[in-house]
Amino acid sequence: MKKAMTILYEVHGNLYVNLTNKCPCACTFCLRQTRDHMEESDSLWLEHDTTYEELVEALQQIDAATMEHYQEVVFCGFGEPTEALDVLLRGAAYIKEHYHKPVRINTNGLGSLINGEDIAPKLAGLVDTVSISLNTPDAEEYHKLVRSKFGDQSFSAMLQFAKECTKYVPHVVMTTVDTTISHEDEAACQKICDELGVKYRIRPWED
Ligand code: SF4
Repeated sequence: MKKAMTILYEVHGNLYVNLTNKCPCACTFCLRQTRDHMEESDSLWLEHDTTYEELVEALQQIDAATMEHYQEVVFCGFGEPTEALDVLLRGAAYIKEHYHKPVRINTNGLGSLINGEDIAPKLAGLVDTVSISLNTPDAEEYHKLVRSKFGDQSFSAMLQFAKECTKYVPHVVMTTVDTTISHEDEAACQKICDELGVKYRIRPWED
């Protein structure tokens, strides 16, 4: 497996941030099982977790015109960004202060379990969108799919995190991947999202 310090990379006109390869899950569908990079990036397997200083340095190397054309900065990468919560929060603050870009986190929604506390309040004013992988409306199926190290509590913790985020983050989205579940299950996901007060999005693979 090739490793590199690919901290920033571009996807669909957005700037993506790769903070860590840590993740409490071992999803059956995880892209990391079959590839080491995204279309335009080098390997996303990191030599070590990105530090705040390394993130700032990487951001400063982007020229103003290039930065200007990014619509959003997305904390995503080849791992769960809330595993690196401190760098994520400090990095989001730096991006807000220097570039005035909307900030999104793509997450498995287990950040409060990972950090041992409700992290939603910490996102206030720093994160504009939280996009959480719902994957399926069924708790049992969820556990089989994501194989979280936190076990059975994971599905309800993920839903609770989404609900808490609605208090602090302007846009909370839960996603499933197009064609991976039935239309009946998509309708059930819509119902869950309606009850939580979040937006439901069926996304293409690799988004
Ligand atoms: S949560 Fe994301 S990074 Fe973690 S195993 Fe699942 S797909 Fe991979």
